[in-house]
Amino acid sequence: MSRFWSPVVQGLTPYVPGEQPKLQNLVKLNTNENPYGPSPAVLTAVRDAVGDSLRLYPDPNADALKDTLAEYHGVARNEIFVGNGSDEVLAFVFQALLQHEAPVLFPDVTYSFYPVYCGLYGVDFVKVPLSATMEIRPEDYRQPCGGIIFPNPNAPTGIGMPAATVEQLLIDHPDAVVVVDEAYIDFGGESAIPLTKRYPNLLVVQTLSKSRSLAGLRVGFAIGHPDLIEALDRVKNSFNSYPLDRLAQVGAIAAFRDEAYFQQTRQAIMASRDKLAAQLGELGFEVLPSQANFIFARHLQQDALKLAQGLRERAVIVRHFKQPRIDQYLRITVGTDAECATLVTALREILAAAP
Ligand code: PMP
Repeated sequence: MSRFWSPVVQGLTPYVPGEQPKLQNLVKLNTNENPYGPSPAVLTAVRDAVGDSLRLYPDPNADALKDTLAEYHGVARNEIFVGNGSDEVLAFVFQALLQHEAPVLFPDVTYSFYPVYCGLYGVDFVKVPLSATMEIRPEDYRQPCGGIIFPNPNAPTGIGMPAATVEQLLIDHPDAVVVVDEAYIDFGGESAIPLTKRYPNLLVVQTLSKSRSLAGLRVGFAIGHPDLIEALDRVKNSFNSYPLDRLAQVGAIAAFRDEAYFQQTRQAIMASRDKLAAQLGELGFEVLPSQANFIFARHLQQDALKLAQGLRERAVIVRHFKQPRIDQYLRITVGTDAECATLVTALREILAAAP
């Protein structure tokens, strides 16, 4: 803390991301990365772009990427915004669309970045508790608000919401922007993108970090009515005209062109997830139904933090949140079958030695 800090910075509690350890040879199941790596076509495209072109500025509008996304999702170019990871897209969303008199609503429990953005941009918020079964219920959101944001599937629960339920929220709140953060949508969820045609207050945000395995390239995007996109562009252009570098643009395009690889890897992850969920159940965990590339589970006898520590001692890292209501859960990223097997063996060992 220094007297040079602005009052906003003095009051900030920054987001603490999941650990990115420097150690090698860990089974890293803590930040929901994709175990399979990006499509080989992405690597070729990025390698080809590392040449003379790096001395040139990238396309500030990323038009080629937007055209690829437009074709893929059946929307127009002016219905798309792209940014440096969906975290950056969300930062622009909070600034451009969620700063109103009335508070923003989001679930309690959800992605912990939302309150951080609210702090940064001075947005009031109200946290709406999840149901007893950890679901987001539209009826709980029937209150005046300046916008609603939630992940679908929710994080860290992994529980998905049918598009009909998203639509109910849109019907209930015609005068508020509803932002659906679909970071994990490709692992069995139902995207709200088709609803953007009928609801000008809907913005859907997606990322290439999970199902496209490009967390390191930092590409995210939003799809919605051109008026919403224009608001995001205004903020972006006042901040950084070149949010996506050349490599990110060509890599992202290549990722969307390799549909076969995308389908194959996401199916593999979903199959491993369902197998791992069953194995955890056999080990005495209560496992929430996941439509994401991670599992949220609590052991019915053993303390979650101790289990996480035991796993760490065995070179397996998972995520534990020291947060009310979920501090007895572990969030476990679905790795390869071999990684999941290592996790299950380690858990079996820990549980056999537990009192
Ligand atoms: N939304 C949710 C719900 C997430 O879990 C994450 C990943 N931590 C993000 C957005 C951001 O992902 P990225 O910035 O890598 O696109």
